[in-house]
Amino acid sequence: MGISMVATLSYITEPERKTAVGGEFEVIVLGGGPAGIAAATAAAMHGRKVLLVERYGFLGGMGTAAGVTNFCGLHANVYGEIQQVVHGVADDLLARIDRLGGLNAPHPVLGKTFAQAYDTAAYKCAADDVLLSRGVEISFHALAADVVMDTPSRIKALLIETKSGRSAILGQVFIDCSGDGDLAAFAGAPYEKGDADGNMLYPTMMFRVNGVNSALAGEAWRTIPALMEAAEQRGVKFPRKGAIVRPQKHSSEWRVNVTQVKNSQGLAVDATDGRQLSAGEIEGRRQALTFFEFLRREAPGFADAYIVDIPPQLGVRETRRILGNYQLTADDVISCADFSDTIGVNGWPIENHVAGDVVWRWPDIPGSRGFNQLPYRMLSPLGFDNLLVAGRCASMTH
Ligand SMILES: Cc1cc2nc3c(=O)[nH]c(=O)nc-3n(C[C@H](O)[C@H](O)[C@H](O)COP(=O)(O)OP(=O)(O)OC[C@H]3O[C@@H](n4cnc5c(N)ncnc54)[C@H](O)[C@@H]3O)c2cc1C
Repeated sequence: MGISMVATLSYITEPERKTAVGGEFEVIVLGGGPAGIAAATAAAMHGRKVLLVERYGFLGGMGTAAGVTNFCGLHANVYGEIQQVVHGVADDLLARIDRLGGLNAPHPVLGKTFAQAYDTAAYKCAADDVLLSRGVEISFHALAADVVMDTPSRIKALLIETKSGRSAILGQVFIDCSGDGDLAAFAGAPYEKGDADGNMLYPTMMFRVNGVNSALAGEAWRTIPALMEAAEQRGVKFPRKGAIVRPQKHSSEWRVNVTQVKNSQGLAVDATDGRQLSAGEIEGRRQALTFFEFLRREAPGFADAYIVDIPPQLGVRETRRILGNYQLTADDVISCADFSDTIGVNGWPIENHVAGDVVWRWPDIPGSRGFNQLPYRMLSPLGFDNLLVAGRCASMTH
């Protein structure tokens, strides 16, 4: 299909071919974001022969590739006291980032909990070390393109494309940590996207600025929203409210989380649609430049700042959510639910990126435990013998 030309054919048939077998593993993890790092490390710690497949040349997922640079959900407000509640592989990663000098002290968020910023370069190096120290094999620059099935409920191989061409990786268990549920979708797993009307959380093009005079900027995360409101009174338009402009480890460098990228219908860009995602990258960078000009012009301390990084990709919050044996709900988060098959916990509230705004819903503070458990059943898709999903494509409601 041509990109901008009118195609004369609606499809072509590719010739059948033999695909080289590129390896055989007990566990194959697709995607090297936070979920993939934890899944691959945990499987290797249990003595499995593990391969992690990642399309970029580094780990971290949205945390590095989309410039997120800040951990949320490690802490929770436990009956009025803010504590770190997520440990395990996360502790190993945090310690290694800290040893590289790339970890901030936790900072308060809306007076209710903590988040913790980090440097992207330190995260990438620390994540390599987490996996390699446990014996995980990593295949970078490898795009998963399809699966081959043994039976309708059993996956035999993951097909990947690299600079060496296409190859088939045989596995006993497959864990889809692609964020988009690519592997599960290739295998035919059922999934949902968005709310009942198909509205997904809006994506954001993050960016970081350097050369900030932090003494002058002060607590700019409090004053910038007021500056934006004043500008709006003069007719300036912003993509969304709820700007997050915060310092990184080195006080001259700040991250900016403020853009909101829509498709031509005004809905969230669907990052499983190649054309929408491509257009979204351009629109995200355009919004980043526009907001940066506002910062330089109006925010104290930013007059001599410059953009030090626009990340490799648009920050995607939601695409496919695979339907599993349990679907985690908003009520589970708000009521701090327990499960008999718990495999982890979440300390973050509901952060809903709706058109033009960010809407928060919190568990009761200080009356609740502040975090919910995560059941193993949300990792196991309906109808498969050797497939698990983890991270943002796991089984949960919009
Ligand atoms: C703009 C934005 C701001 C955010 N802010 C915060 C924050 O401040 N703090 C916080 O904790 N969370 C934040 N989040 C959420 C956080 O980034 C996600 O929860 C987290 O990254 C999800 O992890 P994951 O491993 O499930 O997926 P991802 O991080 O999306 O990782 C998926 C990985 O799979 C790879 N992949 C995908 N498809 C393929 C394929 N076909 N072949 C090969 N590789 C593939 C990708 O390259 C990627 O590395 C934010 C998200 C966004 C988008």
